[in-house]
Amino acid sequence: MDLSNWEKRSKEQQKAYKRMLEKGNKNKILKALPDLHEEAFEQVDCLSCANCCKNYSPRFKNPDIKRIAKRLGMKEGDLVARYLKLDSDNDYVLQQSPCPFLAADNTCDIYEDRPSDCRRYPYTDEDVVIKRVPLTLKNATVCPATFIVLEKLLELEGG
Ligand code: SF4
Ligand code: SF4
Repeated sequence: MDLSNWEKRSKEQQKAYKRMLEKGNKNKILKALPDLHEEAFEQVDCLSCANCCKNYSPRFKNPDIKRIAKRLGMKEGDLVARYLKLDSDNDYVLQQSPCPFLAADNTCDIYEDRPSDCRRYPYTDEDVVIKRVPLTLKNATVCPATFIVLEKLLELEGG
C-alpha cells in the first residue's frame, strides 16, 4: 500500500473509519483482522517508526512493574518514583515521552520485559479494534500499521 501522506489521509478518513467500525459487519471485521494485521506489519518497519514509543505511554500494570524492576535491579517503588505517575484512570503511565526506555536506534532497552500494552499495541489483531473505537481512530493517526488495517477493512466493507 502507498504510505505517502498517510497521516493526512488517515485524518481525512476518520469519519469513514468510525462508521465502518461502528456499523460494519463485526464478524467479518474480526475474521479479517489476523491476516490484515500480519500484512500490515510486513509493510511497516517499527524500527524506522517508533511513533508509539515517542508519543504514547503504555500502562504499567503491577506485573509489568515487578518484571521491569527486577530486570533493572531496582526496587519497585524506586522504578515508580523515577519513571511513572498515576493517570486519571489510576493506572501507572510514564512521566515523560518519548519513553525513557527507547534507545536512539528505536530499539527498546527492556524489550523482552516491556509492558504488556507495548506487546499488544496497536491491538489490530484484537477485538479492541471494534470495542474501543476512539482508541482505534487515534491509533490510526499515530501508527501506519493501524492506518493500513483500517484502509483494508474499508475496502472489504465496500468503501
Ligand atoms: S517500554 Fe519499550 S516498547 Fe514500551 S514504550 Fe517504552 S520503548 Fe516502547
Ligand atoms: S506506531 Fe505502529 S508501526 Fe510505528 S512503531 Fe508503533 S506499532 Fe510499529
